[in-house]
Amino acid sequence: MTTETANGSDQVALQRPGKRQRLAAFCSAVGVLPGLTTLRRVLRKDLRILAYHRVLDVGNPDAFAFDLNEISASPDQFREQMLLVKRYYDPIGFHQLIAALDSGRPLPPKPLIVTFDDGYDDNYHVAFPILRELGMSAMFFVSTGHIDSGMPYAYDWLVHMLCRTQVERLQVDELAFDQAMPATLAGRRALGKELLFHLKALDAITQAAVIARLGEAWGMRPDRHAQCRPMTWDQLREMRAAGMEVGSHGVHHHILAKLSPADMVTEIDQSMRTLQREIGAPIEVLSYPVGGPDSYNPQVIEAARRAGFRMACNYVTGLNRLPATSHYGLQRLSVESDMDIDWFAAMTSLPEVFAHPKRVRAG
Ligand SMILES: [Zn+2]
Repeated sequence: MTTETANGSDQVALQRPGKRQRLAAFCSAVGVLPGLTTLRRVLRKDLRILAYHRVLDVGNPDAFAFDLNEISASPDQFREQMLLVKRYYDPIGFHQLIAALDSGRPLPPKPLIVTFDDGYDDNYHVAFPILRELGMSAMFFVSTGHIDSGMPYAYDWLVHMLCRTQVERLQVDELAFDQAMPATLAGRRALGKELLFHLKALDAITQAAVIARLGEAWGMRPDRHAQCRPMTWDQLREMRAAGMEVGSHGVHHHILAKLSPADMVTEIDQSMRTLQREIGAPIEVLSYPVGGPDSYNPQVIEAARRAGFRMACNYVTGLNRLPATSHYGLQRLSVESDMDIDWFAAMTSLPEVFAHPKRVRAG
């Protein structure tokens, strides 16, 4: 799940392009981006890691009953973005990064890694064929307890319930939420974003209990839904055999720093064991669920190291200075569906200027 991104797609289409988008279009029109990227590379060497969730054509957003914020790109946008990555950067995998660090061999000059979080089945049906067609690879971070379950994630189900429930009020005592249910879908999506932001401040077990209780109270128990499914192990094995990488996103997608120490270690160890058993290849990289600064800490890092993970990604916007110093705090650049290709180009080149600002929960 994402830390909150700044937009709800069905609203973005109606908005005037924002400052970043207009500036990106200007930079692209006058052709300064390649020069800025080159200058930057002279000053410092960085590793870029792109972060995607879903690649999907939703068609009519009003008919889509899940979280539009989870959609990072349409299939056409994704293809165009991968073609740009191939042209201007050196796409690599984590295995090359780790091999270079172990051997001291240099990485190519403009290293970039493509990653996906959460393991939605559009990763297999939509993104994977495009990557394979372009001869590219990506890392797929999956929550092992969801793979093969056919069930949506709890956070997705919460947004789905808000989109579809007939109840008139939203009451969540743990968060002092007590308000009328918005009449419009856009209003309910905005409420979903707000509720998710605050819900993720609670401990992981309470979060799950709140979502389950709302499902009971609203008569909407979690169920399979064609618009929101995880991948299967067979699909992941096929992707692995075709050169994609697979990594851990925990078991239940619980926020690791918000579990008890024992549950946190179990979540990390069990996901490693399950991935090794199901994928049958070395598993070396973890992506912290939710991924904001409050989602991991030194105890989580130590548990990841002890479980055998060589590296871990967060969901904090930024580049990674090379030689990599913080192997267990690799930052990423989140790709959002409102980004056209100029904005995407500008964001990968100068994320400090063009990346979406992230809302951060107080630690
Ligand atoms: Zn996630």
